Amino acid sequence: MSKVRGALFGLAFGDALGAPTEFMSYEEILRRYGERGPHELPPRGLVTDDTQMTLAVADALVSALEKPPVTAEHLEPRLRGRFLQWWSSDENDRAPGRTCMNACAAMAGGKPWWEATIAGSKGCGANMRVAPMGLAPGLSDDERAGAAQLQAALTHGHPTGLAASELTALAVRWLLDGLPVAELPVALRARCDSQREVYRGDWLGDHLWRRSLAESPERFIATGWDECRAALAGLEDAVRHVGPDADPCSAAGAGWVAEEALATAVYCLLLFPDSPIDAIARAAASSGDSDSIASLTGGFAGAIHGEHAWPAEWYTRIEYREDLDRLSTAWTA
Ligand SMILES: [Mg+2]
Repeated sequence: MSKVRGALFGLAFGDALGAPTEFMSYEEILRRYGERGPHELPPRGLVTDDTQMTLAVADALVSALEKPPVTAEHLEPRLRGRFLQWWSSDENDRAPGRTCMNACAAMAGGKPWWEATIAGSKGCGANMRVAPMGLAPGLSDDERAGAAQLQAALTHGHPTGLAASELTALAVRWLLDGLPVAELPVALRARCDSQREVYRGDWLGDHLWRRSLAESPERFIATGWDECRAALAGLEDAVRHVGPDADPCSAAGAGWVAEEALATAVYCLLLFPDSPIDAIARAAASSGDSDSIASLTGGFAGAIHGEHAWPAEWYTRIEYREDLDRLSTAWTA
């Protein structure tokens, strides 16, 4: 039973369930799919940029892992190359995020990433694609954190995008390693506290924080951790008081920004800790960034429950199944 396979396919399944609902009104979603959202994979199993960019991050990491240790020097050119491959591909026609498109265009024009990145953007495009940094075996927590932040920084320069990406990658890892779901919010908030003034200069260099108005690297990154901490506060209360029949975005945020996408995905997970399909269906039936929230939720749920979380038949018709299978095999111990 592979948890890595459950997570990689889970994020694609969530993405595919949320793809048709991302730009539907909440009322329209309920009318079409019922109160608890879509429970069936659409016939063609099409995903969006969330899964495409996750595969890009994964490929870059696989290549960097051929010559360990993973460092910024090895990882950055591989991420940049694979992001640009995605950016110019014919398959990049799934309502990609503007931040990613603009940053890639600037990198394609020859700018280094710290000039190409959209400094003020904390869109969820930074953390919707970060799961591979949690799933690959054999990395230390510091390597996962640094790699997660660097892959975010190439396109999203805002400190909250960096912090949320680290939290998302570590959440995948911790769940894979057996952390009980109920303990996840506490663990994430504790990470916000312990990392509050840790600027990962060995991964990010000096350029990024100097572009900001912050007076020090510590002040720069603290903003990101504080915003994540605020978004993750009160999730447990919301589970009790808002509950499974309401729009998850009304409890934890619309998810267009990184910290809310993480919080709302964790919220959907907490609503249905034993029922992964209900969790991604709820995430897809949301008023906000449905595909990204559902993709994050699917990655988390798959990391907990493993490949049997999802119907066997879904595996046969999800888009990019060969790539997802190749990575699952490579990273399943
Ligand atoms: Mg998308």
